[in-house]
Amino acid sequence: IPLLAVNGVTKVFANGVTALSRVSMSLAAGECVTLLGPSGCGKSTLLRILAGLTAPTEGDVSWPDRADRDHRHEIGFVFQEPTLMPWADVADNVWLPLRLRGIPRSKAKERIEECLARVGLEDFAGAYPRELSGGMKMRASIARALVLRPRLLLMDEPFGALDEIARFRLNDDLLRLKRELGCAVVFVTHSVFESVYLADRVLVMSPRPGAIVAEVAVDAPRE
Ligand code: ADP
Ligand code: ADP
Repeated sequence: IPLLAVNGVTKVFANGVTALSRVSMSLAAGECVTLLGPSGCGKSTLLRILAGLTAPTEGDVSWPDRADRDHRHEIGFVFQEPTLMPWADVADNVWLPLRLRGIPRSKAKERIEECLARVGLEDFAGAYPRELSGGMKMRASIARALVLRPRLLLMDEPFGALDEIARFRLNDDLLRLKRELGCAVVFVTHSVFESVYLADRVLVMSPRPGAIVAEVAVDAPRE
């Protein structure tokens, strides 16, 4: 059974724009799906609906094996902008999701260190966001998204603003993280290269109104 299923989701915004029209898809546990398509085809809207940040106008998102639970803490979200708190150091930024769940800093120490090590920031726990490069800020954002041990990682064009080398490294690190953690990933991108490189399955979207128009399984050897 899938981790989650999107069933006939339509989203019409208050201004009358239909961002998504009867979109259905499912995601297996541990699977990486990329959403590929031009600007305005509804990728971000679909991601926000998966995250429970936006409600669909019609249709729903279901989690078949745990229908009765609140899934928000099982989801890590990475935005295109790293959205770190500038007044807090890297470790405190990563702590935030735990803190919001009432877990004190003293009890979170090991978990924070583990997540920083996973993204290669173990030596930067005490650094402030302004001291980090763009790629390192993104790594800190990923560490923060992993700190609740999500089963699903949602990434909204996370590497779009980075230089090619940082992007290249982050793509490889994301593949490794996915293997290590076994979490499912939905990754939004404009890049055909990136979509194929990262995905088990590419969903191609088209605008006016937003819909999934093709699905491509990628089964190239990974090693
Ligand atoms: P993408 O991520 O593929 O660029 P979006 O999901 O951001 O696409 O947007 C899909 C469509 O919905 C676009 O036409 C966009 O202008 C519109 N849209 C997105 N968010 C809103 C909103 N909050 N209110 C009104 N229209 C929106
Ligand atoms: P070219 O170098 O001819 O542009 P490539 O297929 O090597 O063609 O790369 C296409 C684009 O994808 C380029 O912008 C490149 O910098 C980028 N790219 C290449 N490898 C990676 C990677 N592992 N992760 C992210 N982007 C990459």
